[in-house]
Amino acid sequence: MPIAENAAKIEERIQRACATAGRKRDEITLMGVTKFLAADKVEEAWRAGIRCFGESRVKEAAEKFESFKALHNIQLHLIGSLQRNKAKTAVLFFDCIQSADREEIIAELAKHSAVRGRPLDVLFELHTGEETKSGFADMDAVFRSAQMVLESPHLKARGLMTMAPFTQDTALIRKSFRQVVSAQKELERRFPPKENWECLSMGMSNDFEIAVEEGSTMLRIGSLLFK
Ligand SMILES: *Cc1c(COP(=O)(O)O)cnc(C)c1O
Repeated sequence: MPIAENAAKIEERIQRACATAGRKRDEITLMGVTKFLAADKVEEAWRAGIRCFGESRVKEAAEKFESFKALHNIQLHLIGSLQRNKAKTAVLFFDCIQSADREEIIAELAKHSAVRGRPLDVLFELHTGEETKSGFADMDAVFRSAQMVLESPHLKARGLMTMAPFTQDTALIRKSFRQVVSAQKELERRFPPKENWECLSMGMSNDFEIAVEEGSTMLRIGSLLFK
């Protein structure tokens, strides 16, 4: 299927979910997740109106996006787990690291981001039940990490990210998203201003409507967009 057709169908569903939830469509960004896909799919998605892209590996993203990013005004986010020895390269290519999931990696990002012209956006990934073990499981570690990001002149806290469990059980998915919203409230209280925490990156191909209903501001869609 042409990506533009898939995008139009997804767009319709997002608008319907917004109407159901009483939300404005412009509060939500649709990210195209292009991991494992060839560069021509990135081009096609761009022509279909996608302006925010997610990749899960630093090397793959660098190869695919280096020249594309120089020519197009897009946002590129890292959504996969970051290894420490890749942080130095990651800060050069990504506008946002959504998968910040441990203090060690935040220290590494803070150290290397000084070479950037402007601060690097960071989201904290929370583990809320997905099968893989990625994400913070412990809020105290999130608080310590938040402190580190807010103290760094080269990093900018933006909010939270999660992957819900891959299941048909919508109650479980909802629970996972609500956990993120409750963490957001706690962070807003402890580390104002609210603006530090306004991005909620949650919702994938199989659960994005629930995510919209629960307050997501960024949907990360791969398989449904590129099928
Ligand atoms: C692959 C991936 C996505 C996209 O998943 P789909 O189910 O293909 O939409 C979103 N977020 C993360 C972190 C991913 O790794």
